[in-house]
Amino acid sequence: MCGNLYFVGTKDSATHLLDTGEGLLLFDTGYPNMQDFLPESITKLGFDPKEIRYIFHTHGHFDHFGATRRLKEISGASTCISGIDACLLRAKPEMALCHYMPDISMEIPEEVLHPDRELEDGEILTIGKTRVHCILTPGHTPGAMSYEISVQENDQEYTALLCAGVGFNTLNIDFIKETGLNWREDFERSLTIWKGMKPDIFLGNHTPQSKTLERKAEGKSFVDREAWPSYIAEIDHNFHEMIRVEG
Ligand SMILES: [Zn+2]
Repeated sequence: MCGNLYFVGTKDSATHLLDTGEGLLLFDTGYPNMQDFLPESITKLGFDPKEIRYIFHTHGHFDHFGATRRLKEISGASTCISGIDACLLRAKPEMALCHYMPDISMEIPEEVLHPDRELEDGEILTIGKTRVHCILTPGHTPGAMSYEISVQENDQEYTALLCAGVGFNTLNIDFIKETGLNWREDFERSLTIWKGMKPDIFLGNHTPQSKTLERKAEGKSFVDREAWPSYIAEIDHNFHEMIRVEG
């Protein structure tokens, strides 16, 4: 994608790989059925999946940590998610399925994520030449974590923003009525945080969000300072439109 940042996901699941110079970082691992695809995808780029040191997760839904267990077996990587989502997964592991696909097969609670490290808001991890800044942006889940990641290309350094999750499936009125959980105010505060961010590179945690494959096909640079503000303005608009319609 840009310098030491690589896309290794599918047309729906965005998994990003970063070569820190002192091991690899992986961000989200997609659906459980990506457990063979991801190591192959990493190997095709010329990297060894055994070199993964950390696996970061944007939030505690199965379509973001599905292949984590397999990748940890291969690499021994330290698995990370926010402390808040880690607590939620311990207390209510069924929340990992989160009204996406009730028919998905996953052993609850064995197959949910059991992280090695629980991240706090504002934490900065430095691995090799890479900094990962953890920014809590709750709403989609209570512990959804966005990451600002330093990316090196030649002598340039860029900031990439991996957005934590903006799906309304946990914010709509049906979810609120069914679960009694209302995270809309958290999401509203996260929108304010997000709108204040000015990344050089926008990374969605689902591939279509940041139009990764289109951009690649068209040969467009991933360094695009307009991509994020226009995307988050659209989410902001759609969120308030949903609330207006639902009343
Ligand atoms: Zn989700």
